[in-house]
Amino acid sequence: MDDCLFCKIVNGAIPAERVYEDERAIAIRDVNPKAPAHVLVLPRTHEATLSEYAAQHDNGDIGHLLRVAAELGKRYGEERGFRVAVNEGGDGGQTVYHVHLHVLAGRPFTWPPG
Ligand code: 5GP
Ligand code: ZN
Repeated sequence: MDDCLFCKIVNGAIPAERVYEDERAIAIRDVNPKAPAHVLVLPRTHEATLSEYAAQHDNGDIGHLLRVAAELGKRYGEERGFRVAVNEGGDGGQTVYHVHLHVLAGRPFTWPPG
């Protein structure tokens, strides 16, 4: 997708601090962090939302994103824990339409979210 910010980050046209990458996904630091550690797991393919990603990919790909999120949550949250979130659509609070998992750590999080 030529006009997608996160596709440009995936292909290197726009810089980002990468904290993880493999053949299916990358993870970057969020430019506007909401916690001491806030990273985003992005699939290399462009699907706008989690629903679209789930419709286009098999359970292995979907599970892989969650596995990467869990590994990063452990890396940054250690034994204290972490939060994984996916926002979809207007009510979900999504602002960038290339699916991504937020991984937040380094402070306690409240439930339910606002
Ligand atoms: P959403 O609101 O779609 O769930 O999350 C989008 C996230 O992308 C936000 O947390 C926002 O701070 C982050 N973000 C927006 N633009 C950029 C950027 O250019 N670089 C990086 N690293 N993060 C970005
Ligand atoms: Zn994209």
